[in-house]
Amino acid sequence: MNKINVTRSSMPSFEEYMEEIRELWESRWLTNMGVKHNELQDRLCEYLSAPNVSLFTNGHLALEAAIAVMGLTGEVITTPFTFASTTQAIVRNGLTPVFCDIDPDTFTIDVNKIEELITDKTSAIIPVHVYGNVCDVYKIEEIAKKHDLKVIYDAAHVFGVRVGGRGIGSFGDASMFSFHATKVFNTIEGGCVTYADESLTERLKIQKNFGMLPGGEIFPEVAGNAKMNEFQAAMGLCNLRHVDGEIEKRKAVVMRYIERLGGVPGIKTWQPQAGVKHNYAYFPVLFDKEVFGKSRDEVAAELKDEGILARKYFYPITNTFDCYKGRFELQETPIALKASKEVLTLPLYADLALDDVDRICDIVLSGAEK
Ligand SMILES: *Cc1c(COP(=O)(O)O)cnc(C)c1O
Repeated sequence: MNKINVTRSSMPSFEEYMEEIRELWESRWLTNMGVKHNELQDRLCEYLSAPNVSLFTNGHLALEAAIAVMGLTGEVITTPFTFASTTQAIVRNGLTPVFCDIDPDTFTIDVNKIEELITDKTSAIIPVHVYGNVCDVYKIEEIAKKHDLKVIYDAAHVFGVRVGGRGIGSFGDASMFSFHATKVFNTIEGGCVTYADESLTERLKIQKNFGMLPGGEIFPEVAGNAKMNEFQAAMGLCNLRHVDGEIEKRKAVVMRYIERLGGVPGIKTWQPQAGVKHNYAYFPVLFDKEVFGKSRDEVAAELKDEGILARKYFYPITNTFDCYKGRFELQETPIALKASKEVLTLPLYADLALDDVDRICDIVLSGAEK
């Protein structure tokens, strides 16, 4: 039996990548905003239809920088149904996360519960686009305007997604995209901030370069090092040529999953959102043991026995992390908690064969029809 991992990185051919990095052996310019870096930044601005793009060595540090340059204070409203990165970035910036529950269908922030969490200390909303689903960006914009709050999206899951014809990175004050190896588009490790206000360009550059102004003698900010190197950018330039095709292949996999698992009693599968051009980043399935007959953990164990790795993603939710115990007033988020106990993301990548999807579905469904 072939082993199936939950994901498999998209890569160009070996020859294409070699061709892309060849000139680096002549220039000997390997990092610090080189030609590949600058070309990728321009290409992504176009591809994402974003007003401005700033590249980083990974998505997490991009998010930390976006938060840092926004000058936030006090409390930030966010969700716990996310990867550790979102909450850790908020706390590492000295801010207090205030957890809002999620919408049970999209797994994104429940916009009807945001306003009750706003206090005179709130400075921003940091929502997360989850699994390729988008937040209610219009309602969030309305709330932010009304209460004079900044909005920074964790857009790690929504590379290439469009809403009403607009690139998802054009909403809010800023968005962070991740180009980690496991994401729809990768630069091995990498990420970017898209942002509306052009005057942030210099500050984001300073944030990724030790707080230093060009010239290297003036240091207006306290900051670390988060620059994207030329080999990462070269991988990005190659992968960007193929990403539309990869998304089409992902779509075929997702459609097969929906065909096999959609409508089965006790199973809730991912569904497309109206008006959204999706990227098919993840295929989450929720299992209700009472109705389906098997729990999420039982299904995960059965798949593992067959060499198939599905992921409990997101589990645990971030407001249950040990590192936050006793540190904040942690709001209860029952919908997020329930989802974290029922959800399994099934293997999904461009080259996953439809026969393998069928085999995965057979195992998921076996012995469940009680
Ligand atoms: C992947 C991911 C991140 C972090 O991105 P890196 O590029 O791995 O640092 C942040 N938030 C979410 C929701 C993610 O899935």
